[in-house]
Amino acid sequence: MPRPRLTASLAYWSSRTPDSIALECERTTLTWRRLADSVEAVARQLRDGGLAAGDRIGYLCENGAGVIQTILAAAALDAIVVPLNVRLTTPELSWIAEDAGLSALLTDRAFADRSEELARRHDLRVYWQGDAAPDWAAPLAREGTDSRELLSRVTAAEDLPVFICYTSGTTGRPKGAVLTHGNAVAAATSFSITETMTRFDTCLLVLPLAFTGSIMATWAPTYYSGARFIMHRRFDASRTLAELQDGGVTVFPAVPVVFEQLAALDGFDNADLSTVRVAKAGGAPPSAATLRRYEDRGIPIGQGYGMTESSGVGTSLPQEDFERKAGSAGVVNFGTDLSIRDAAGDPLPPGEVGEICLRGPSVMPGYWENPDATAEALAGGWLHTGDLGLLDDDGYLTIMGREKDMVLSGGLNVYPSEIERVLLLDERVREAAVVAVPDERWGEVPAAIVVTDGPGPGPDPLLALCREELADYKIPKYFHFTTDPLPRTMSGKVSKADLRDRAAKLSGLPSPGR
Ligand code: ATP
Ligand code: MG
Repeated sequence: MPRPRLTASLAYWSSRTPDSIALECERTTLTWRRLADSVEAVARQLRDGGLAAGDRIGYLCENGAGVIQTILAAAALDAIVVPLNVRLTTPELSWIAEDAGLSALLTDRAFADRSEELARRHDLRVYWQGDAAPDWAAPLAREGTDSRELLSRVTAAEDLPVFICYTSGTTGRPKGAVLTHGNAVAAATSFSITETMTRFDTCLLVLPLAFTGSIMATWAPTYYSGARFIMHRRFDASRTLAELQDGGVTVFPAVPVVFEQLAALDGFDNADLSTVRVAKAGGAPPSAATLRRYEDRGIPIGQGYGMTESSGVGTSLPQEDFERKAGSAGVVNFGTDLSIRDAAGDPLPPGEVGEICLRGPSVMPGYWENPDATAEALAGGWLHTGDLGLLDDDGYLTIMGREKDMVLSGGLNVYPSEIERVLLLDERVREAAVVAVPDERWGEVPAAIVVTDGPGPGPDPLLALCREELADYKIPKYFHFTTDPLPRTMSGKVSKADLRDRAAKLSGLPSPGR
């Protein structure tokens, strides 16, 4: 069945609201008409350079109009776009370039060293996003295009791939999730319904456009709604706060660390953020302290949970539920099934912890050229997320962490995120991570790494708090206090593998715990 393709919105909004602003980035402002003309021009340039249906084009760029133009142009040509994180090293990028079989690369002069090396190793055609202006197709677009021949197709087969998005690699090598036009449109629709976005909204993105969450949960729904999309080349806290105050921003999706850095600014308490209708933290759980800081300012933060394999779709906790469902990741996004399943793949009743499984139109058809990993991830027709969670009677999800991070103590499952949430109740605790440490008697026991700003509270008040809130076997046996922030992966997730290695050494210390 034909479905709208990723470029369908461009065709639609450029004829319905041609003079409204579609995209602003740094010095570039593009109306829908200009955006459509420029995408047509870029598509012709890519086609003339040899990019054909099914070819893979990567981008290694700071945020810029050129990235959006390239995504849409490649989509118009039935080619496949591979977002690349600029923080990856040459060997990491090279591994992805090889795995995805890239034939072209869009990049910036700032990344010339890595790009030229990649081009040499993998025989890539390189396009520069532009030294002076961030929209590399601007000169072509100004010349004007007589028709929008390449943008004229608004539907595609449902299973036509448009992205290969690599996972963050938190638990191993990154995996290339193939995402189709159908997946992208379903995700865009789902998020624009979740945030009730319309063409009167303005959405601000300060995160790199390389993250699946940035593309699928932020740009795509904005673009689908016909709303205005403002993008900063890179994150700068003061500039972001000024934009939120003066830019007419209504929707602001980000990650917890962005919200923390904004709240730490001197001007935060007096900033007028009254236009911001939706502020949302995704990708990792925000701390209770941060949530309180925004709540006190009258800007409750919504939360989102999702993953690359489902085009970012998962669950959302709307701001309204902030108090009532504190600690929950919310309800499943529009048009998707969520089920908690046991190890045999059978559904579990509310209140029981099992693997979070998703099924719906935004779930990938599989990993790129990796049938074994695909069969495992999609067994029984469900996406097995590898995350553990439980549903309450109202269908709200509580995330209990990754299966791989679970602590098995004396035959009982201990879920680190449950303990982390308790530790974060103490206002002096800035960050907390719980990992498994080997133990002679119990097999494994939980150990807590606690980050504080100054001298920590010491284990006693935290132990008392844990004793109040948690069963005996869940109380950390070791506490390690530090003022160093937790090690994080590029997308801001706590890197538990590093912490486990570090914490293993703790078992040599005297135990303050049980
Ligand atoms: P890899 O699959 O390569 O090990 P990854 O799972 O970190 O890496 P992503 O697809 O970027 O790669 O991240 C999705 C994961 O992030 C989810 O499966 C979940 O573990 C975690 N996550 C996302 N949102 C949240 C959230 N709100 N709270 C807790 N965890 C979250
Ligand atoms: Mg994953």
